[in-house]
Amino acid sequence: MTTEVSKPKTAAMRSYQNFINGKWVSPISGQIYERKSPITGQTIVQIPWSDQADADTAIQAARQAFDRGNWSKSHAYTRHDVLGKIAQALRVKASELAQTLCEEVGRPLEICLGEVQITAQVYDYFAGLALDVKGESITQHDSSAIGLTIHEPVGVVGIITPWNFPLLLVSWKIAPALAAGCTMVVKPSEFTPSSTFMLAEIIAQAGVPEGVINIVTGDGPVVGERLVESPLVDKIAFTGSTAIGRRIMAKAAPTLKRISLELGGKSPNIVFPDADLAAAVGGAFFGIYLNSGQVCQAGSRLLLHESIKDEFVEQLVAATKNIKLGDPMDSTTTMGPVINEKQFDRIQGYIQAGQTDGAKMLIGGSGRYSVEGLEQGLFVQPTIFDAVNGEMAIAREEIFGPVLSVISFKDEADALQIANNSMYGLTAAVWTKNLDTAMRMAKGIRVGTVWVNTYHTAGLEPCMPYGGYKQSGIGRELGHKGLEEYFETKSIQIKLGN
Ligand code: NAD
Repeated sequence: MTTEVSKPKTAAMRSYQNFINGKWVSPISGQIYERKSPITGQTIVQIPWSDQADADTAIQAARQAFDRGNWSKSHAYTRHDVLGKIAQALRVKASELAQTLCEEVGRPLEICLGEVQITAQVYDYFAGLALDVKGESITQHDSSAIGLTIHEPVGVVGIITPWNFPLLLVSWKIAPALAAGCTMVVKPSEFTPSSTFMLAEIIAQAGVPEGVINIVTGDGPVVGERLVESPLVDKIAFTGSTAIGRRIMAKAAPTLKRISLELGGKSPNIVFPDADLAAAVGGAFFGIYLNSGQVCQAGSRLLLHESIKDEFVEQLVAATKNIKLGDPMDSTTTMGPVINEKQFDRIQGYIQAGQTDGAKMLIGGSGRYSVEGLEQGLFVQPTIFDAVNGEMAIAREEIFGPVLSVISFKDEADALQIANNSMYGLTAAVWTKNLDTAMRMAKGIRVGTVWVNTYHTAGLEPCMPYGGYKQSGIGRELGHKGLEEYFETKSIQIKLGN
């Protein structure tokens, strides 16, 4: 199904309350947080700035809903039907949701519409999987005994999400959690909260009982950490930075909570001389510039074989010159602003570090890029550094902005060594026409997803598991593996009488 993007309206102020036990409620303190637009600098959303007591109320609601059993023990067809209704409602509201995402994330409207559409597919996919949960029977070991394994929902899930793909990434958790029969408390990022509140409304209208899904907004170290520490929460599903992921793992230890962590990356995008060069240039461009580079799987390390480096870089710089920075509501804009002042300053720091560390800046540069009429917009110039070595911060650290580091390599072994020289292990891409090269590289790189002759296709197929090696995370989302994260497995051993 395709959806028309309606003509963009001027951003209107939105205001939300927490969603707890099926009701919209103010935070106990009465405090609110005002999110300013990354495009205009004006306040566009007001949300509760909750404290631990609000989180506790939501946790209680989720706990009681789980223990009541009207969702956790519901028939699989009930969960299947509800998930299907959510997918359908997302498609009906696609235009409104896309506009909201565009205003809060600052990403071009068409890409926001794409986020809504692939999110709907995630609910369709887990609607199907809800009908296909099976355990094992072990009957051949002992003729006088039968062993069974059964799956049970893990319980109350605390869901904590970032701002870059707010609707999709929260749904990678909510959809399997609902399919498994879990209840949940969700804390979205304060920078992009609206789509999560809109989703809560859709989920409630689809027939999910009260208390199954609860949304509480507030400061990560206050509300998020309460979810992590509460003994009433059984599992944390987190997407965000590696630094916060480490903290969550430590804070979850006293209650031995189940955790799944989707964290940062510094993905190598590797081009061999036999590759289709035009396609690889397109892949490098899309790989680094999607969402102004604010993507965990961004191809931020471009590894080029030394024999093609100059020609490749020339084409990539030429393509970069054509990027149009501006209002993401305008259909001619190809890149919007970055998310907030903190992220803007962080990216500026890396552009300056690249220059002081001796990398060669081919295009771009530091400073606020001025768009006429949007002088408060947080626009960063797409920037490419050549002659980058593995010691430089721009080669090692996640920048989360439109800043590309080009590194040349001599041969396959060299490329593999450079690719694996990272604490991250989220994704990688290889561009070659040689299947042997592609497969040797795909097997040799220590990451959770390898693309061959394509980029950023992870997440487009809900049946493919997604997650990181090394310090890019723990656990997998999507696919059968993604559903398993929301189950406990119980073994039942039966001794047969004579
Ligand atoms: P972040 O780690 O700053 O915040 C993520 C979430 O955690 C937010 O909701 C935040 O409020 C909350 N939080 C902050 N401190 C907390 C604490 N002490 N306890 C509990 N929760 C806390 O990340 P961000 O800036 O929102 O997002 C960017 C990061 O997310 C990047 O590092 C990016 O690579 C990563 N990311 C990873 C994936 C993936 O699938 N691997 C996808 C998207 C983004």
